[in-house]
Amino acid sequence: MPFPPIGWFSVGSRPVSCQSNAFLLYYVAMESGRFNLAGKTALVTGGNRGIGFAIARGLAEHGADVVLVARTAKELAQAKTQIQKQTQRRVWTFVFDLENTEKIEGLFDEIVTQTGGVDILVNCAGITIRSPAEDVSLDMWDRVHRVNLTSVLRMSQAFCRHRKSAGKGGKIINIGSLTCSAARPTTAAYASSKSGLMGLTRTLAVEWAKYSINVNAVGPGYITTELTKPLWSDKDFTKWVLSETPLGRWGQPEDLIGAAVLLASSAGDFITGQTIYVDGGWLAML
Ligand code: NDP
Repeated sequence: MPFPPIGWFSVGSRPVSCQSNAFLLYYVAMESGRFNLAGKTALVTGGNRGIGFAIARGLAEHGADVVLVARTAKELAQAKTQIQKQTQRRVWTFVFDLENTEKIEGLFDEIVTQTGGVDILVNCAGITIRSPAEDVSLDMWDRVHRVNLTSVLRMSQAFCRHRKSAGKGGKIINIGSLTCSAARPTTAAYASSKSGLMGLTRTLAVEWAKYSINVNAVGPGYITTELTKPLWSDKDFTKWVLSETPLGRWGQPEDLIGAAVLLASSAGDFITGQTIYVDGGWLAML
């Protein structure tokens, strides 16, 4: 096949400039490939920083418009500017506290009204409270489960209703944890919520396959973010993490992009009910 000339060309309705034939071939492969998310809109909770931000940016790099939901308006605005600048995709932000689980349906309706619809839901927002199990209060327990688990159910229910009426299927990606499958001291509430999330993922996958909604989870290993700052700033803990991780390093938020794009795109159409660990080999090692 002869190479097209270098210059401007269009992909769909988008004009694209290319500097070399190699770039052009790469671009066309991305645009027409099974990982292409052009024309899709992805809602990412916790998309203002850390893992959620990296995933939102990664989905946008693969063509999706993105909706970011979190509590901190300033970080949301910064994330929006950064993603728009780097990807030229559309970005909407919504300031919302997911602890208000009874208001999630209203939030989702508002998002659909403003954006025109959501094809991909990434439930990433999460919190942890570290405490010995015997000291965990009911309040701590409830907060962690409300954000990490109940909000995911409510978001997913709203997404399912929306996709059913659109009649087009969809993708849900839940952000789990190593504690979906393993335990560490002081993580009773967190591990319970994340193990519950894996059970919820499997159940929704089985129930909603009939609507062509794929439901999967991604389980990050130890990733350097705000959430894990007390851990990665502790030298002894870091030494332990490196010794337990076959790939020998902390993960970065960007390490999660590959799994998220796979599960969000048509490349993942036959994957459902799974938890994919992105952990540098942590769980594989005895
Ligand atoms: P961060 O603390 O950087 O991010 C947490 C995100 O959740 C923020 O965007 C935060 O935004 C949002 N969030 C928290 N509470 C609420 C709430 N009540 N309502 C709305 N949004 C909320 O941590 P990570 O990026 O590390 O965590 C992202 C996900 O990854 C979590 O589910 C976490 O459990 C999971 N994870 C992280 C690992 C790691 O090593 N970092 C390992 C395994 C899992 P805001 O505060 O503005 O509301």
